[in-house]
Amino acid sequence: MTEIETPSTGFEYAPAPESAAIARLKQSYGIYVGGEFRAGRGEAVKTVNPATEEPLAEVAEASEADVDDAVAAARRAYDGAWSRLSGSARAKYLFRIARAIQERGRELAVLESLDNGKPIRESRDVDIPTAAAHFFYYAGWADKLGYAGFGPDPRPIGVAGQVIPWNFPLLMAAWKIAPALAAGNTVVLKPAETTPLTALTLAEIIAECDLPPGVVNVLPGGPAIGQALVEHEGVDKIAFTGSTAVGKQIQRSVAASGKRLSLELGGKAANIVFSDAPLDQAIEGIVNGIFFNQGHVCCAGSRLLVQESIHDEVVAGLKDRLRTLRLGDPLDKNTDIGAINSAAQLARIRELSDSGEAEGADRWSPACTLPDKGFWFPPTLFTGVSQANRIAREEIFGPVLSVLTFRTPQEAVDKANNTPYGLSAGIWTEKGSRILWMANRLRAGVVWANTFNRFDPTSPFGGYKESGFGREGGRHGLEAYLAH
Ligand code: NAD
Repeated sequence: MTEIETPSTGFEYAPAPESAAIARLKQSYGIYVGGEFRAGRGEAVKTVNPATEEPLAEVAEASEADVDDAVAAARRAYDGAWSRLSGSARAKYLFRIARAIQERGRELAVLESLDNGKPIRESRDVDIPTAAAHFFYYAGWADKLGYAGFGPDPRPIGVAGQVIPWNFPLLMAAWKIAPALAAGNTVVLKPAETTPLTALTLAEIIAECDLPPGVVNVLPGGPAIGQALVEHEGVDKIAFTGSTAVGKQIQRSVAASGKRLSLELGGKAANIVFSDAPLDQAIEGIVNGIFFNQGHVCCAGSRLLVQESIHDEVVAGLKDRLRTLRLGDPLDKNTDIGAINSAAQLARIRELSDSGEAEGADRWSPACTLPDKGFWFPPTLFTGVSQANRIAREEIFGPVLSVLTFRTPQEAVDKANNTPYGLSAGIWTEKGSRILWMANRLRAGVVWANTFNRFDPTSPFGGYKESGFGREGGRHGLEAYLAH
């Protein structure tokens, strides 16, 4: 262990680890195409536990020929029974999947924490229940599409190609698959290369729920497989969640192809704290906003805009709170901060944090012991940040908070909107009128007031500007999968 400094609260927690055996890891995984599991014809790669760097399993990834097979299987399923099945019949499948996710919730939570590095507390209490909630929610819509506001008889689009990132592997799969199936589409999903295991377990659940073969296909693989799926002629709709750079590339590649496209991309959200805010609550919200899931959250509150008069008080309160966060074994139920998902992501967080120091901001981290093996980064706070600094402009996608100040509401709006992104924002104040005044001016798809990082299947989510277009979740989330 590399000792940075040892905090002593006098109230240490005894370890409370979940057993890794609950994940029922297999030695090897493949692809799921046309209702069958088989080895992909692409590379065989080892998926690694980011907390230990030990391999978890081997995954025989998809090849381009497997993409052809999966799209063909999805087309057959679409032209076969699926698109003509009644909404209530589709709903039964979705309800079944939702219940099966709940039944296998503990297994999925442990598997997610092993493959992603996120604390079990979060995978158990947020990722898995919210994934099940999405299937329950969209099951409810499947037989009511004619009343969703998209005309009396909205039709599905066809075969959806879906590409997702590694930060919420199962939840992102649920966000994508549930509305697509509710609307009568079939799906080819490509999980991220570092986190394929829960999507493949979801495929197992889908098989056990007796979905017709080919309605859902899962193809683990890297960027080349994502690209092959996106560019495939047999795909009618692309749904992508990931980085802005790749989103732009995808938008270029589908231009003039007639494919429908929705993009959920990066963010650099402002979390804005006024002097009349309930400060203890705001500090909890700031911590949740940026340190939840190690900051690997597209809508993370990575820029704290604090009213100048309370800057010192807020920073002191934040430091006190950060000193109590426990970093370590993701499977320990006491852990607040888990591992960074990959060596590549850790390198990016380090590089951007170093640039913060080089550009003159003040860096601070609490006393915290980093394990020797695995990918780890301590919760980090930068004060004295200027808007021109890279750490105030670029998405770090890690546990790093940049603190800036403002004096008036207008200055807060100007600074919050001074970004190419526009995914989310937070406002902390006692005044309802100020919340509404701010929310009307913030160019962000989601604006939270006196809370942060709240996710609910009934609520639409999506961005402005370089954060993408299209909405996922809620009634709006159906629109991306309906031709009307
Ligand atoms: P990424 O764009 O590198 O990869 C995302 C997915 O796209 C992966 O499955 C990857 O294999 C695939 N991919 C890569 N290149 C591709 C290409 N040329 N064509 C098709 N597919 C390709 O992003 P990442 O680093 O895995 O994820 C982090 C990013 O995702 C962050 O920027 C984050 O903000 C964003 N994100 C956004 C949301 C949202 O809802 N807006 C949610 C989660 C993450």
